[in-house]
Amino acid sequence: MKFHGKDCQSFFSCFEKDKFSSDRGGAGLFSCRVSMPCEVKPRFVVLYGSQKGQAQSIAEGISEVAEEHGLVAELSCLNHNDKYNLEKENAPVVFIVSTTGDGEPPDNALQFVKRIKKKTLPTDHYKHLCYALLGNFYYEALGDTNYANFCNCGKTIERRLQELGAKQFYATGYADDGVGLEVVVDPWLEGLWKAIKGALSNMASDRTGYMKGEAGDSLKETPDSSIPDVQLNLLSITDHQNRESARTSIETASKFASAASSSSSATQTAVSDLRPAPPAGSLGLASQSHGSASVSTPVPETQTGDAGVPRVALAASLTHSLPPLSESSLNVPALPPPYLDVSLQEVDTMEQVGDDTADKPIFLPYFTLHLINVFFQIAGPLNKETLHEVPISRAVQLTRGDSVKTALLLELDISAYPTMTYQPGDSFDVFCPNSAVEVEGMLHRLGLHEQRNHRVHISLRKDTKKKGAHVPSYTPQNMSLLYLLTWCLEIRSVPKKAFLRALVEHMGDGVQRRRLQELCSKQGSADYNLYVRDPSLGVLELLTAFPSCSPPLSLLVEHLPKLQPRPYSAASSCLRHPGKLHFVFNVVEFPACSGRPAGRRGLCTGWLFDLINPVLVFPGKDETSGSPALPKIHVSLRPNCSFRPPADLSVPFVMVGPGTGVAPFIGFLQQREKERQENPEAKFGETWLFFGCRHRDRDYLFREELKSFVSSGTLSHLKVCFSRDDQEEDAAASAARPRYVQHNLLLNGQLIMDILFKQNGYLYVCGDAKNMAKDVNDTLMEMIKMELQVDQLDAMKRLAGLREEKRYLQDIWG
Ligand code: FAD
Repeated sequence: MKFHGKDCQSFFSCFEKDKFSSDRGGAGLFSCRVSMPCEVKPRFVVLYGSQKGQAQSIAEGISEVAEEHGLVAELSCLNHNDKYNLEKENAPVVFIVSTTGDGEPPDNALQFVKRIKKKTLPTDHYKHLCYALLGNFYYEALGDTNYANFCNCGKTIERRLQELGAKQFYATGYADDGVGLEVVVDPWLEGLWKAIKGALSNMASDRTGYMKGEAGDSLKETPDSSIPDVQLNLLSITDHQNRESARTSIETASKFASAASSSSSATQTAVSDLRPAPPAGSLGLASQSHGSASVSTPVPETQTGDAGVPRVALAASLTHSLPPLSESSLNVPALPPPYLDVSLQEVDTMEQVGDDTADKPIFLPYFTLHLINVFFQIAGPLNKETLHEVPISRAVQLTRGDSVKTALLLELDISAYPTMTYQPGDSFDVFCPNSAVEVEGMLHRLGLHEQRNHRVHISLRKDTKKKGAHVPSYTPQNMSLLYLLTWCLEIRSVPKKAFLRALVEHMGDGVQRRRLQELCSKQGSADYNLYVRDPSLGVLELLTAFPSCSPPLSLLVEHLPKLQPRPYSAASSCLRHPGKLHFVFNVVEFPACSGRPAGRRGLCTGWLFDLINPVLVFPGKDETSGSPALPKIHVSLRPNCSFRPPADLSVPFVMVGPGTGVAPFIGFLQQREKERQENPEAKFGETWLFFGCRHRDRDYLFREELKSFVSSGTLSHLKVCFSRDDQEEDAAASAARPRYVQHNLLLNGQLIMDILFKQNGYLYVCGDAKNMAKDVNDTLMEMIKMELQVDQLDAMKRLAGLREEKRYLQDIWG
């Protein structure tokens, strides 16, 4: 048991603490080390399920500030069921759970979800339990939402908790990364504390009643009405309209906008004093330690420009603000407590050899080992056997030089690895390093370029106040600094507001400090979105724009996430290309913006592009035999159990895949062609492909191969549209022409509905999550309403039914 200090809550007496409290499951309402009398803080439980660390960091944020609210939080990951015991828990339980883009629970909540889904559990199994839940929805890559999967994990947990008798003590919040988690997270967190106290109070009186022999359950069935209304209308954004309005609200006003996405949200509280920012060079907010702060600094008439040149700020930018923001007092997040000690140690020259090769082939065996040890340990149920270093055997540019986007096809030689056998619909992860130029830039910016080969030692600060603090598991022991920055940390990641808040402490210049405070403040949320989040500004770009900021290396290790591999869909079938794996990607381009003087490419696609540029071939041109040796890359298989062609060959299916979204369908069709050749007598269902691109002549991917599928009868219907091929058309002709895949779907509505609702067929959608998947979903709704003559609600049910039966399947990315 723990002893938690001085300020015992007045609304609880300390009766029978030992009886109800323990460090683990079955704990009581109080946390106390000694038997009474003593002053204790009431406890509650925080459980998280987190894929990329966001939900975890919100949960950690809650647990960090609990003490400020006179409470003790017991934090645990959902899968660590040895650390909590819901079966006996009689303190309030707060669930913070994320859902991945395909609607699955995060890896570290899977076992929990499985456990509570057991049909054998009685309906009063969690009758004693009192919970609140915050669900977060993320895309595997940024993009719009697959509405049916929105916060699926949170909804599943909530539904099961209620079916098993648990009672909600605070309205559930569902936050969407696509519109900004803070729109929901911030007001939810603001109201949480009063809700917990209300629940504790109810539970304590319930307990008293119980001990006095009173029967019955005093917990309210519905959320406590004494809980403040914290914009609960925003908390359950479950349908399209609501989510759209949330999107609008964040775009227009940033009404609730404040601490971004993660723990900062959890630690932000309002204060009222107005104080000018401290003079340049002083560490203004440092003395406020982990409390929140309000800052007011009149903006100077002239400001220091990016290059240090004084100038009048006429327009807002990353480094300059305008009134009213520049004159506003600010609510900034509480300072995240530092928790890591990072030291560098020189190594002797012999040892250095191994590590001075962070991005050279000689280093790769160590890298492979690192990936196996680190990546799989975190990612959980993935199969170690599938991580391989494989040669690229061919690289083809699929788009013409004048196309807006550059699409490339890479062929990998996987013949040496029989375990890499994949099915159409599977994807695989590509492990890429950070850009060498940016790593160098970072080393220089931190003043550590001389120490690049030093060994990095990371340990927990003994005095840290951070709950659940741990050394990141993706930083192996004995790595060099160069290795840490090249392979472990996502140095391109967009800094969260908590990170900005931490950087404020290391800012020398007062004007720059004020601007950074604005960017992480509630009032500056629109600017944060505009100048940091939307353009995906990385920390190096930020440090370049704010030259007086000198953070220690430990801050980067604390705040930068793990460098993630990038998934790609297989664009081939093993039956057609034995021992080979194809994938197709667009080279992502980030335009120049405030804080980014020149455009840059996406991390992985840019790296792949540079890697294969010397050996790139163009369709129609001969591949030269004397081309330079092809490089190798690290990949790992990500099997997808549901995004597969129908097992029953006679069932018809429809594929919707514009742009690179066509990738898996090339695999589907190659497989189908082989199956047709091998089973000439068999009955095959119709196949439809809806493809779209900008121009027929510039970016029509796999044009020849698709035509040959049609000629062979493998593809029954190919519906192609071009969104920008209308220069020579008059307005009327252009308006009548289908531009996007959904227009072609609509034109064939009756046949498609027939396939789905009369012939038990399948519909697959792949590609852009931002617009296409949503537009297709909306169009399907319209088609159902029109063709089946049903209303909106019925149409929604029918579509949901298709999903449930796994006959409407999506593989989408941002
Ligand atoms: P990053 O450096 O990671 O940047 C990409 C991020 O920046 C994205 O979040 C994106 O929304 C955003 N972004 C992009 N452009 C801009 C811009 N101009 N301004 C601001 N922000 C921007 N991709 C394919 O091309 N082909 C595939 O077959 C494919 N299959 C996938 C399968 C799955 C299951 C998933 C989850 C994703 C798939 N992706 C695919 C996406 C792919 O994994 C990468 O996200 C993509 O290639 C970009 O990676 P990157 O490292 O180059 O870009």
